[in-house]
Amino acid sequence: MTITSLRDVSNAKRLVVKIGSALLVNDGQPARSWLDALTLDLKDLRENGTEIILVSSGAIALGAARLGLPNGGRASLADAQAAASVGQVALAQLWAGALDRHGLIAAQMLVTLDDLEDRRRYLNASATLERLMETGAVPVVNENDSVATEEIRFGDNDRLAARVAQAAGADAVLLLSDVDGLYDRDPSADGAQLIELVEGVTPEIIAMASEGSSSGLGSGGMKAKLQAARIAERAGIMLAIINGIEQRPIHTVRLTGRGTIFVPVRADNARKSWLGGRLAPEGVLSVDEGCVAALGKGASLLAAGLIEVAGEFERGALVSLHGPKGERLGQGLVEYSAAECRAILGLSQGDQEAKLGYAPRAAVVHRDHMVRA
Ligand code: GLU
Repeated sequence: MTITSLRDVSNAKRLVVKIGSALLVNDGQPARSWLDALTLDLKDLRENGTEIILVSSGAIALGAARLGLPNGGRASLADAQAAASVGQVALAQLWAGALDRHGLIAAQMLVTLDDLEDRRRYLNASATLERLMETGAVPVVNENDSVATEEIRFGDNDRLAARVAQAAGADAVLLLSDVDGLYDRDPSADGAQLIELVEGVTPEIIAMASEGSSSGLGSGGMKAKLQAARIAERAGIMLAIINGIEQRPIHTVRLTGRGTIFVPVRADNARKSWLGGRLAPEGVLSVDEGCVAALGKGASLLAAGLIEVAGEFERGALVSLHGPKGERLGQGLVEYSAAECRAILGLSQGDQEAKLGYAPRAAVVHRDHMVRA
């Protein structure tokens, strides 16, 4: 069942709740009474039959305060890694204590982008979450910031929350934020309207995200939240942004329904949703207009339509698919290495064997391993 009102959020069977640093940390100190009140909301949901997974930021902010690092620990990647390393200990203690006061067991899970991108490791993370759910523990997930370098970082816990929801087979994600939701323009501008329901994160919706919507402490901002909404939407998961500033925000939203809900527009199969959510393509395949039209009808990408290959990659890599004017068409798993793609560029199926030295595969990117933008 798709949840279309925040009043019904307790209908979720498995819910991911993302808590940002701006809510959990005030001036470098944990917001204990707020956290305690939130834990009551979580306990209510659990008693109502909803399983909970938490994605909690705050390690960098807490650690920076302890170490006396400038800029909330975000002056450099090295600072952020050191701050996260110190702060994660405090964060884990904080959650363990808060959950324990309400009879709940906290389980820490630190993940990197690779853990959720690599098919094999994704399945491992997924199995761990499943087992934790069976035991009744409450996973508290964060990015493993102390080892994740720039290239392999999510960088924001909004997208991480959406990927965790996907890996856990959750049906809903709540992003607790310091704003009420998505506004049609800069929320501080005259006449700004809260958008309550979004059916599909279109370019018009993305244009509404204001650059200045990040709170400073966290790194998310509205852009990251919309990216998270896209990942969730493709996985058939409802995602909502709600204001978490007041005490007991989930209790409140169950009464007021205030926030922005993103309802999934299509439920791709699991493999496709995993592909759609992957973040880092290793190359770009550009195709001609004929191929753009064929892909639009659901065909596979054939070498005959290929006009350019950018990047170095192996067979099985995730690549971006572009039209002749550079427009993004989608992405998929490529059947050939970059060198092989270049060798058969523009060739019909019949002409490829001589170049490859073996019978060509059915396609360069098969439609089953492709997600359209
Ligand atoms: N993982 C980071 C932390 O715990 C926060 C990332 C974010 O700001 O979303 O501090």
